[in-house]
Amino acid sequence: MDAGNTSMPEDDLLWAAARRLASARHAIALTGAGVSTASGIPDFRGRDGLWRKIPSWKFTIDYFLEHPLEVWELYAARYKALKGAEPNPAHYALARLESLGVLKAIITQNIDGLHWKAGSRNVIELHGNIREAVCLSCGAVVPIEEALAMVEKGETPRCRRCGGLLKPNVILFGEPLPADAVQKAFMLAERSDVILVAGSSLYVSPANQIPVVVKARGGTVIAVNMGEIAYRDIIDILIEGRTETVLPEIARRVEILLSGNA
Ligand code: NAD
Repeated sequence: MDAGNTSMPEDDLLWAAARRLASARHAIALTGAGVSTASGIPDFRGRDGLWRKIPSWKFTIDYFLEHPLEVWELYAARYKALKGAEPNPAHYALARLESLGVLKAIITQNIDGLHWKAGSRNVIELHGNIREAVCLSCGAVVPIEEALAMVEKGETPRCRRCGGLLKPNVILFGEPLPADAVQKAFMLAERSDVILVAGSSLYVSPANQIPVVVKARGGTVIAVNMGEIAYRDIIDILIEGRTETVLPEIARRVEILLSGNA
């Protein structure tokens, strides 16, 4: 397959992606904000992206340490929006591919928990999650509601155990990623022969190095994305479309191929 081949009609691309997934020895997925926009959660860099409403520097660790309550208030609003969100057909299609034994894991940059909610079991959350808060002093992890109750009273959330500053358990710019999640993700990439990238601009490091590792080991990179995407030169099959329509179409074709009815 040619790198970045977009000249095939879409149906052929869908079948090409499905065939490659159905015949994979070890396939994984890497997902980004673009799998959750159909659930009403804006991405960062897309047309209606969050960066157009809130400047990205407010999500740096340095800004948080200087203005914790202001950033907590932003997260309180974000939590409200994310808590009510439901998975969309993109999440369900990925869960289906896992239950078919095709996808061995989903590595996600999302913090919204929608892969779990859709029934995916092996999910690696590279950028943390919105369900929890973490104490920056003693490392205690508590349900985010505990911290939000303090925010509602206009108080900066503090750890009940040691009095340290609580932070949403998501990665802010300037912070290292959770080491265990990064290690797991790259170990999976090392053993994978196919990676399905969905709804990610591949602008964020180190997540964008995961498909690079798969490709360097001779694997196939499939990408489903609408709009800008980096690393086009490593993508074997690029399907430019909405994850919530394309992923179910791919999953349907994989099922047909696995049942021998193709
Ligand atoms: P990104 O915003 O950089 O890229 C998302 C990509 O998806 C863009 O190219 C966009 O055009 C595309 N896209 C948007 N809707 C789509 C759709 N319906 N179908 C197909 N493509 C679509 O996001 P990223 O690559 O995930 O990385 C940036 C950071 O965003 C990560 O750190 C992540 O933690 C964070 N983030 C997460 C959420 C969430 O949890 N749902 C939401 C916003 C941002």
